[in-house]
Amino acid sequence: MKNKNHVVTVPRMGTMSILVEDWMKRLGIDFLPPAPLNNKMIEVGASVSPEFACFPLKATIASIMNSADNGADTALMVGGYGPCRFGYYGEVYKVILKENGYDKKIKVLTFEPMTSGEGLLNDLHKFFGPLTELSGKSKPTIYWHLARSFKNAVCMDKIESMLLSIRAKEKYRGDTQKKYDEAINVLRSAKNDKELAAYHKTAVSIMNSVELDPERKTFKVGIVGEFYVIMEPFINMNVERLLNELGIEIERAIYITDWTGPKNAEKVAGINNFDSHNLAKPWIDSWCGGDYTANVGHAIHYINEGIDGIIHLYPFGCMPDIMALEALEIITDEAHMPFLSIQIDEKTGQAGVITRLQAFTNIVRKETEEIWHAI
Ligand code: SF4
Repeated sequence: MKNKNHVVTVPRMGTMSILVEDWMKRLGIDFLPPAPLNNKMIEVGASVSPEFACFPLKATIASIMNSADNGADTALMVGGYGPCRFGYYGEVYKVILKENGYDKKIKVLTFEPMTSGEGLLNDLHKFFGPLTELSGKSKPTIYWHLARSFKNAVCMDKIESMLLSIRAKEKYRGDTQKKYDEAINVLRSAKNDKELAAYHKTAVSIMNSVELDPERKTFKVGIVGEFYVIMEPFINMNVERLLNELGIEIERAIYITDWTGPKNAEKVAGINNFDSHNLAKPWIDSWCGGDYTANVGHAIHYINEGIDGIIHLYPFGCMPDIMALEALEIITDEAHMPFLSIQIDEKTGQAGVITRLQAFTNIVRKETEEIWHAI
């Protein structure tokens, strides 16, 4: 029997809420989209979190508390597994919410694949159990609707990957963003596979209708790093938009559906986890969690593809990415590849990031043009 009184949300993380909103709508569950992050929320998140917690925890707990204040009573969250701290997020959320009197307002439902040691099927059952109460639907139906929403989200991610390339070449600033919003709205209304196939074609042609500047010479940079920092524009200070405006096309190492989908599935980002882990093998002899191997593997993949530069984004306090940085510095140095690593936390200012991106872009242009002249 459906319980109509609950309002579900997710912590703010790029386009994640579009995927979950679509899923909840199909299940008939009320959904509150998380508000865009702002400095005030980050301040709150930092003040309630342990000082040395990694930055994504501070941002996501701030988003959950904000949604609770706005009426949500259930937050859905994908959990992780060790050894990085993501495996503890669910438990840390509970403690923080209790300490700040939010445990009566909002409950966090964490899907923790493999953490319980009870197997993926059991973990899925545990996660879907409360959703059966919220929706009044069976677990297979809930899963079926998730798969449906996921397919829409994959198409949206593909359109986002077009945005990150086309925006660098647009003739009129802001044009690509408008077309992207239009294309995403078209995809949002797809109800089944047939509609999705048709709407995806429409969305692609909307993106291809952006007028390009034939005079603009662009370069291509790969972005690797910690998934939350890469995927949430407020946290990374809109690095991708800034780079596009500087004439840099972007290849991003991870999208929402890459992160939430099966590890061996075809990825929007290019190579799947198994391939990136294989490429990274010479640089790691044991699993250290987070995005270490994915970052190293993607960087090698980008270099093999002939990219013009690599940017590494990671949050303060992230152990796997500090280790990845060591390897990335050597790999890019050996390949004579321009490389920039930016560590981000609640005190990072956008002005400093812009200056570093401008300097990096100049290096990419100079190095690439020198190679062209040498040829
Ligand atoms: S990958 Fe790094 S920042 Fe992200 S949860 Fe793990 S330790 Fe924290």
